[in-house]
Amino acid sequence: MITAYIGLGANLGDPLASLRQAAQALSATPGITALRLSRFYRSAPIDSSGPDYVNAVAEIHTSLTATALLAALQHIEQDHGRLRPYRNAPRTLDLDLLLYGNQAIDTPGLTVPHPRMHERAFVLRPLHELAPALQLRQGTLPVLLQACSDQILSVIPAQD
Ligand code: ADP
Ligand code: MG
Repeated sequence: MITAYIGLGANLGDPLASLRQAAQALSATPGITALRLSRFYRSAPIDSSGPDYVNAVAEIHTSLTATALLAALQHIEQDHGRLRPYRNAPRTLDLDLLLYGNQAIDTPGLTVPHPRMHERAFVLRPLHELAPALQLRQGTLPVLLQACSDQILSVIPAQD
């Protein structure tokens, strides 16, 4: 079993509902067990446009290969009606494979660790919540969070 981290994001439609459904779909995927989900965070778009994003991170245990896991993530994205009219367009659901154990993967369709995660507060904060001692190649989570403290994030209060 590999411990992997998935970044979830949405900014169109009903982002909270999309993220809850995506987390549900992840835990229902064969080969994925033991899902832990961070709180939900609201953030202004970075390198994108449209309404605020809602983001979260999920920790999973999986027997899937990284490639099969990415395919499963893309399948869940499709199920949520994601369109790709242009690069970095607003989206109803974005699922990124952030970390896959401690493996480094660099193929045309998959780069792990996710190449921009270390500079995104909306990834680092929920990740820190789930795994405070985790270290990325670029540094510890608190140090990396400090470097992007200009990115405003707010925790969405739990509703149930
Ligand atoms: P982004 O998430 O960077 O805003 P997309 O979700 O549109 O962009 O992803 C574009 C492509 O990135 C996907 O088709 C996928 O093959 C590739 N990709 C590479 N590495 C990863 C990763 N770690 N997680 C998710 N997608 C990845
Ligand atoms: Mg993506």
